[in-house]
Amino acid sequence: MDYLSVIEMLNACHGPSGDERQIATTLKRLAEPYADTCHIDTLGNLIVHKKGPGPKVMFAAHMDSIGLIVTHIHKEGYLSFGKLGGVHPESILHTPFRFKNGVCGVVALRPGVSLKDMTIQDLYLDIGAKNEAHARRLVQVGDTAVSRMPSFTTETKLVSPYLDNRISCAAMLDALSHIRAYTNDLYFVFTVQEELGLRGSKPAAYSIDPDYGIAVDVTVGETWDDPQKGSSILGDGAAVKIMDSSVICHPDVIKLLETLAMESKIPFQRDVIVSGGTDAGSIHVAREGVRTGGISIPCRYLHSPVEMVDLSDVTATVRLMTAFAQKKL
Ligand SMILES: [Zn+2]
Repeated sequence: MDYLSVIEMLNACHGPSGDERQIATTLKRLAEPYADTCHIDTLGNLIVHKKGPGPKVMFAAHMDSIGLIVTHIHKEGYLSFGKLGGVHPESILHTPFRFKNGVCGVVALRPGVSLKDMTIQDLYLDIGAKNEAHARRLVQVGDTAVSRMPSFTTETKLVSPYLDNRISCAAMLDALSHIRAYTNDLYFVFTVQEELGLRGSKPAAYSIDPDYGIAVDVTVGETWDDPQKGSSILGDGAAVKIMDSSVICHPDVIKLLETLAMESKIPFQRDVIVSGGTDAGSIHVAREGVRTGGISIPCRYLHSPVEMVDLSDVTATVRLMTAFAQKKL
């Protein structure tokens, strides 16, 4: 799969938490050739079903992104905003953003505030409006905006905003296209509102009532200045989740994933992070409890507009998902 083109196609959709309809529709079109049924539920989750005789397996990757939401339009035409999910002021200052209607602007800092003291409240969006009336013709309070930074590849890496978690959406589509043996009853769920607290996966897990849950998401990858935030290293393979702040993975699922990776010679590593949750957090406590694990793609500069993954880790993740989907459970 050409991951760069898929990421560019997904990022061209407006898909911040709570307004994922465009991206769900795009993913539905891409998944339909491989599915028995595809439907979008009440909250907006896209549920792709491929029937099989075995236990129910639910793969979940969130399709929402973090973003900005307009809270106030000032008389000078500048916009104050709140954040949707974990937006860090230092990551978005002096970067471009795009509203659903195509209006674009840049994030700037109020005069007199130092870089080290700034909070989200000190930032504003400048959409080039000459005054409040002009600005109100372009956007209104409650409108949301997403990053419009570019995506590109290096020899081994992919860099883009919202690899969290669109790279896992792409990986899930790729796995779907590679599955040949329909041993299990497979559900591929592209979830909504993960960045606001794992919200979409709750009703999805309730309605599917799976026997196994696998969250596919990015995880903290090592960086030069801070190798200690998590255990995962870019280029070392698919990261089998052991723990994040929302879940301790089921030992049966960890064992299954690690055994499959070893048997199929898929590069893998263990993933332990002490902050940040995933959809595994809500799936494992659905109904009477679900055997749940996760496959993670190590990612640097998480929640910045220049997230970076290693393409070999994406391939390893696709292979591990495909192996799990086809395994007689
Ligand atoms: Zn994520």
